[in-house]
Amino acid sequence: MTFPSELAPELLAALAHVLPTYRPINLHEPELGDLEQTVLTACVDSGFVSSVGAFVDEFEASFAAYTGARHAIAVVNGTAALEVALTLAGVEPGDEVIVPALSFVGTANAVVHAGATPHFVDSAEATLGMDPAALDAYLAEIAVPSAHGATNRVTGARIAAIVPMHTYGHPVDLAPLLTVADAYAITVVEDAAESVGSTYRGRHTGTFGRLGIFSFNGNKILTTGGGGMIVTDDAALAARARHLTTTAKLPHAWDFEHDEVAWNYRMPNINAALGCAQMQRLPDFLVRKRALADAYRTAFADADRISFVSEPEHSESNYWLCTIRLHDATKSELSEVLAATNAAGFGCRPAWHLLSSLAMYKACPRAPLPVAESLVDQLINLPSSPALWSAAHE
Ligand SMILES: *Cc1c(COP(=O)(O)O)cnc(C)c1O
Repeated sequence: MTFPSELAPELLAALAHVLPTYRPINLHEPELGDLEQTVLTACVDSGFVSSVGAFVDEFEASFAAYTGARHAIAVVNGTAALEVALTLAGVEPGDEVIVPALSFVGTANAVVHAGATPHFVDSAEATLGMDPAALDAYLAEIAVPSAHGATNRVTGARIAAIVPMHTYGHPVDLAPLLTVADAYAITVVEDAAESVGSTYRGRHTGTFGRLGIFSFNGNKILTTGGGGMIVTDDAALAARARHLTTTAKLPHAWDFEHDEVAWNYRMPNINAALGCAQMQRLPDFLVRKRALADAYRTAFADADRISFVSEPEHSESNYWLCTIRLHDATKSELSEVLAATNAAGFGCRPAWHLLSSLAMYKACPRAPLPVAESLVDQLINLPSSPALWSAAHE
């Protein structure tokens, strides 16, 4: 016999208080309008809708300027961006790559597409992302440092990269994480898919590792329909990223010569056109998402067992997905709360299943995951579209 959770009515009341009155309210919706119509028409009129065109160049330049990265290379999606970034970072077949167990499946899929094995590690309570202290202690146990990445003394494989992921837009505590990575000479590649607009100590996420990647999928803060970006400060890596994502074709007026096995991953101009328009709206999205986050935080301030997940210290989050934690909740209580909120028309969602628990990743190496295991039963993403703030408060 289980008792109905007192959390469901409390959460429903807070959602009704913060959000506009229409139902259903989805988890996250893109905001598109006249600006997007105009650039898409211009793109169609130009005749260049495919993998070359002025909007690709413009989107890359504005994204590089916005993030402070020296180079930005637009590609078809975030998963492809991560696969390419890992390969450029030197990840080779047979290597292991450290990833958080608490992430979207694309993080681990990209590791496998790059020929390597994901090696799962735990999250920190404060950031929901990779825990530098736990990683340090774990590597001290299992890793032997070498000149180019550590060796896993259990599996014998090289640990070639560490991939911190900025969960729901909240930056990982990067300073201690980079110290750990340096100590083992392991390359850092940031999965910043969710953190366009998020900064750590004043610097944009995705620009701390050797390479970083972003996603512009339809549900992300900035969308190109589908799309991704690779950023790096290394000119040689940037040139290689460009070459390898455009079939390694040698520049020539009319000849088709290719000099390596490569990908066809470049972002089409029509998607980049959307990106150019969305870049102009991004500052406004960030302001309204922060206001929505503030309203949620206030609404849960007095709740006993519900806490709003605020941006970590030293960070400014984009609040891509506003998130609450149900303290001491079990999986069944979480399900009950999600059933009640979704029945009432609020598009609330649980965290992902831990990647380490998915059928295809069950046999992969992993650190102890006590924090990630408790977080997955306790996190709920709340409706987070920027439009919700203007709709509720204009
Ligand atoms: C969205 C996302 C990706 C992948 O992006 P796609 O553009 O959907 O391929 C990768 N990692 C994380 C953490 C994401 O949220």
